[in-house]
Amino acid sequence: ASAPACKRLISDADLATIWVTNPTRRLFGRSGPTKLDIAVYYAAMGDFMLPHLLGRPVSLFRCPTGRPQDCFFQRHPFTGMPPTIASFDTKNSEGETKGYISVEDVKGYLALAQFGVVEFHSWGTLRKNLDRPDRVVFDLDPGEGIAWREVVEAAVHVRGALQGLGLEPFVKTSGGKGIHVVVPTTRKLGWKQFHQAASEISAGIAATAPTVFTTVMGKENRRKRIFIDFHRNARGATAVAPYSLRGRAHMPVSTPLSWSDLESIDAPEDLNYSSVPGLLETTGDPWADINDFARELPPPLQVKR
Ligand code: ATP
Ligand code: MN
Ligand code: MN
Repeated sequence: ASAPACKRLISDADLATIWVTNPTRRLFGRSGPTKLDIAVYYAAMGDFMLPHLLGRPVSLFRCPTGRPQDCFFQRHPFTGMPPTIASFDTKNSEGETKGYISVEDVKGYLALAQFGVVEFHSWGTLRKNLDRPDRVVFDLDPGEGIAWREVVEAAVHVRGALQGLGLEPFVKTSGGKGIHVVVPTTRKLGWKQFHQAASEISAGIAATAPTVFTTVMGKENRRKRIFIDFHRNARGATAVAPYSLRGRAHMPVSTPLSWSDLESIDAPEDLNYSSVPGLLETTGDPWADINDFARELPPPLQVKR
């Protein structure tokens, strides 16, 4: 079966603008991908990735030298930044005004390859609607002693609970050990209420299966349990973006999946920079219609302002 038509966002002319110095520089070890491989991956994936990324504040994980110890998160505007990476000022949680960044178009996105950008992380909101978030992330973080299969089962359980609240959850691998269940919402709540709603929903889910889940942070609480990390939904917090690579050996991808395909994944690291582009050609983007499924998030009971 051929993939559902995907809107072409990146033209051949755009691709011709890709420019990297040190294209053969390897990242993450001698058999790791080169800087050019990463540029090619993002160019190939842009049509799938950009609808989920454009216009959202981002934190970029950059590895300019290729050495893991030199990688860092870039949340603020930087020198030499491509002109179509937008910067804007807003207050952080301490009340200080800081500059933040967002990717606004294809050219800016492609230009980031030259800056050693390996991972894209984004806020659950659009820059133009900064204080009205529209994506809840239930970041399922397995503790020690939890097998992948159990994380999958837990995600399916979370899906059922969220559907019971009238929500429409989507799923992706994190590219690490866990799974992200993502719910598109209408923009009714501000950040405090949004975070609180995510907290209460998570606690409610954990209460239905207390031997499986915890919502309490800390390694000890997590042992043999899955931590539902709802703190990705606080203002200024980020989660790795759909289709982002992860900066480690074999370059896993945070891969959106249909719920039925999730069950057929035996090891999440099989979804990586060399396999995912090919898979997408047959499945298309399982999240293509995510915005059409935005539902109102039930407001929190404990209204925190
Ligand atoms: P896993 O499945 O292994 O948990 P994950 O991406 O969900 O993978 P977490 O540790 O659960 O990893 O999530 C942490 C998130 O917090 C990251 O995805 C990133 O968006 C954000 N983050 C972590 N460290 C930093 C940092 N130093 N600066 C900015 N954001 C960070
Ligand atoms: Mn996680
Ligand atoms: Mn987490």
